[in-house]
Amino acid sequence: MRFADLVAGYDRLEATSKRLEVRAILVELLKQVTPSELPPIVYLMQGELRPEFEGVELGVADSLAARAVAQATGRPESAVAESLRRTGDLGTTVEELLPSRSSRLAAEPLTVHEVYSELQRIAAASGEGSQETKVHTLVELIARASPAEAKYIARFVLGKLRLGVREMTVLDALSVAFADGSKEARGRIEAAFNLSSDLGLVAEATARHGLDGLRSIGLEVGRPLRPMLAERSPDLADVLKRMEGRAALEYKYDGLRVQAHVPAKGPVKLFSRRLEEISGQFPELVAALPEALRRRPAVVEGECVPVDLDTDELRPFQEVSRRRGRKYDLERMQSEVPVRLFLFDVLLDGRETTLELPFPERRRRLEALVQNTDRVRLAVQTTVSDLPSAERFFEEAIAAGCEGVMAKSLAEGSRYRAGARGFWWIKYKREYTHALADSVDGVVVGAFYGHGRRGGRYGALLLAVYDRAADRFETFCKVGSGFDDATLAELPAKLRPYEVAERPESVATELAPDVWFRPAVVLEVRGAELTLSPIHRASFGAVRPGAGLALRFPRFTGRWRDDKGPGEATTSAELLSLYRSQVRHVTKGGATEPET
Ligand code: ATP
Repeated sequence: MRFADLVAGYDRLEATSKRLEVRAILVELLKQVTPSELPPIVYLMQGELRPEFEGVELGVADSLAARAVAQATGRPESAVAESLRRTGDLGTTVEELLPSRSSRLAAEPLTVHEVYSELQRIAAASGEGSQETKVHTLVELIARASPAEAKYIARFVLGKLRLGVREMTVLDALSVAFADGSKEARGRIEAAFNLSSDLGLVAEATARHGLDGLRSIGLEVGRPLRPMLAERSPDLADVLKRMEGRAALEYKYDGLRVQAHVPAKGPVKLFSRRLEEISGQFPELVAALPEALRRRPAVVEGECVPVDLDTDELRPFQEVSRRRGRKYDLERMQSEVPVRLFLFDVLLDGRETTLELPFPERRRRLEALVQNTDRVRLAVQTTVSDLPSAERFFEEAIAAGCEGVMAKSLAEGSRYRAGARGFWWIKYKREYTHALADSVDGVVVGAFYGHGRRGGRYGALLLAVYDRAADRFETFCKVGSGFDDATLAELPAKLRPYEVAERPESVATELAPDVWFRPAVVLEVRGAELTLSPIHRASFGAVRPGAGLALRFPRFTGRWRDDKGPGEATTSAELLSLYRSQVRHVTKGGATEPET
């Protein structure tokens, strides 16, 4: 495919935010291309070069890209800077400054494959002289491009290509383009994606062999699968009822979820909940895992928790978050914040995939696989079939420093459901005994400048939950408390990369913050209760016409959810069910609904 045709598709995608239209444009586009062109096309569309978990980055800084644009357009760097001040977007700038293709030496038009391989070359350049290689390759690429093509190339290299095409929409389009578009077809395509986390792989397989092509996609060591997620429940009696009277209960450790891939030979890889590779940040776990597992290859899952290695006590979660994202001081951090991995599931045991086995069988396998060491342990577990035993175990978990329990179904159908949230796993946390049943993970979409002591800084952030069906972020609170001085001072810099000039299409609110952000950063808040509000848009109209849900007295818990992307924040539907469980609680006690 010529790159110009893809760019024409990009233009159409940029012009709409309606999910059905986006899907129709995608279907048309996908049908025109050869199967081998699909991986590049779907990765590029996501603003990536490879599946996200591979962590491939172009490594092109703004200044470098601006220099390349100057060289490719033959204009002085000052002219580029000047235009950039006006447009605020290097893509628009290069489109303006680059003479039309026909007026230059006409080489062959660019193909998608060519653009992709040049971008890969830019990403691969590292070490001494790499900056020059990157600039040079980019200059050559732009010089061969039309102004419209160059616009997207520039945006892509700066990580600013936002077409609003989410993974789920691509899966929708694949099911229509290469299968019958039915719910079943869509489900099978999504299942393959959940197992491989690789949109390109799934797209190519479906294009080549339809749904049959998906059979070849399974769990592979080194390629993370999307984690199985838990529902929540207001009390332990409800948990037991949902589990038909009998369940496994495990300590619910408060740390970072880790998916560990231990190959037969070669280095161990650790992935976070959102499938970023984090092996480099926990070298002691990488080293400890092969020794703790009796068989290899293996893929196991657990929670990485800070511990006091002398007393065996669990430490607060916040400590382990100090180790996230670190590139330096790794050794010091290892001794300052020692961690232990508590394993709770096995997905590959030897060469056998265990995903389809019921949970009790997986646990049996896990127990046979793991030998407890200083760094790696089995998650504490018991089986309960009555409420007093469940309550006792819960108290024990809290006393041990956990945040609650995870109940797991023992039923025949309790296989591992990658990427799915359901009542096969139910989380029940200590805080559920307080006013609001759970904390909420909100996406930052705006900020308000502070007054007085907070002058010149942000005084409050505007938070949104995610409406999956509408693919939209709906606000539910302004949060200003819970930030210590140091965090407040850091906020503008932390959020600057996501700043945008106006309200993003995908954000729904009646409020007008001083600064808008593209939905990207997720943080955890707690509040006293959920109420109805005319200005917030979360689950708008679901309880009462003209009202959305708002969190009263929100407070930042101190926890940045760097392990969650905006699409994984609390959803509007979850907020609605929290509201409903709270109403039930309150009315049970004889009071009325929360004030509106
Ligand atoms: P979720 O992962 O469900 O979106 P979350 O990231 O906000 O939610 P919690 O609501 O605290 O996290 O609970 C779920 C998380 O608990 C799991 O993703 C996992 O990281 C952690 N966890 C701790 N102990 C266990 C356990 N024994 N079994 C499964 N998960 C556990």
